[in-house]
Amino acid sequence: VNTGSKPDISRVKSAELYEKSKTYFPGGVNSPVRAFKSVYGTPLFIEKGDGCYIWDADGNQFIDFCGSWGPLILGHNNSKIREKVTEVMQNGMSFGAPTALENELAELIIKNNRFVEKIRFTSSGTEAVMSAIRLARGFTGRDKILKFEGCYHGHTDSLLVKAGSGLVTFGETSSAGVPKSFAEETIVIPLNDTAAIEQAFAQFKDQIAAVIIEGIPANNGLIIQDEDYIHFLRKICTKNNSLLIFDEVITGFRVGFEGAAAYYGVKPDIVTYGKIIGGGLPVGMYGASAEIMSHISPDGAVYQAGTLSGNPVAMAAGIATLTELNKSSFYKDLNNKTQDFVASIQRFATARNYKFKVFTVGSIFWFAFTDKDKIQSADDIDASSMEKFKIMHRELLNRGIYLGPSGYEVGFVSAAHTKIELEKAKRAIFEALDLVF
Ligand code: PLP
Repeated sequence: VNTGSKPDISRVKSAELYEKSKTYFPGGVNSPVRAFKSVYGTPLFIEKGDGCYIWDADGNQFIDFCGSWGPLILGHNNSKIREKVTEVMQNGMSFGAPTALENELAELIIKNNRFVEKIRFTSSGTEAVMSAIRLARGFTGRDKILKFEGCYHGHTDSLLVKAGSGLVTFGETSSAGVPKSFAEETIVIPLNDTAAIEQAFAQFKDQIAAVIIEGIPANNGLIIQDEDYIHFLRKICTKNNSLLIFDEVITGFRVGFEGAAAYYGVKPDIVTYGKIIGGGLPVGMYGASAEIMSHISPDGAVYQAGTLSGNPVAMAAGIATLTELNKSSFYKDLNNKTQDFVASIQRFATARNYKFKVFTVGSIFWFAFTDKDKIQSADDIDASSMEKFKIMHRELLNRGIYLGPSGYEVGFVSAAHTKIELEKAKRAIFEALDLVF
């Protein structure tokens, strides 16, 4: 392996912290990808973030393209969010009773979104999706869920299911501890395959409560679907009286204020959000028409609750964030900036005939070591190409650029990245690519 001319960054303090954390947490972490198992070296322990920069325990500074896995669309330590959160905290942290702040965040969302009339806040994306699935089952009176291979929807039991070997398969559990009988209620099919979904609806007629898809699948690389396919999903769900759930935990408020639903011009029946709506604090949300949402307790028979749901401090962070995103040219500026950035990286790689593509939507990008022009299903990804990502990741860390520690993860540009940092990042990426190839 050519590790390049730059010496590896110091990880002395991170290594010490990691030794300690391993005595407390499985794998030393509170969420698995953080353990750097797919890239070189000790996981970095982060001490501070500001704008588009983060600093680790050893004092290394990085331009951050992970953004806490998506929530930080305004960058780290945004002053508007910090001030609003600090103001609200003066009055206490949690009441477990309604507050006006919940109304305020709900109003920002509902008044500016064609896809939800009523919503419920949760404390994570996982919870939001789990509740949306229960709602779909309660509303339709059906048990089966259809999901796509390569889509991640949080760690709910019935969604921790991977594809079997056929075109249409009952899932096999992809985690120990998930009963086989749960996975049997989950049908898994490949993305972008109209025949597979037609077959599934034929085989499981009147049994499928909902089809769930990530608005734009972004957890197994960025697997951009044809617009026609998304419209086809809408039609086949309507025809079969199944609900269409868009899991917009990543794409919601990322590709635009109304997420992937507006991007494709498709109206899902239930939408889930997370990440950005909490501005860095734990918030998730699901929403639908007033009719569908009337099935949620206490009005309806579908139970769902949460001690910290609608927490005032988290609502404050969400309000401050969405207020910024709702300003007129926010997405245009962010998306243009990102598209210029990725286009010049692609030009560089293409000019040198590197087997490298940048897939991108809005301010999301994914570096893929492939010569394919399109990646539309999980099968299109060559797992062996991840070795190249590992080298790139190390070279980029050594040049002050932080990407999520797995080649299957997408990167995010934030409003805090300026031309200066994007130019610096580009130069580092060019150098890293030259070393990889
Ligand atoms: N759905 C999607 C599309 C996600 O990307 C994620 C997390 O990355 C989740 C659900 C789960 O959200 P959380 O990690 O907040 O539980």
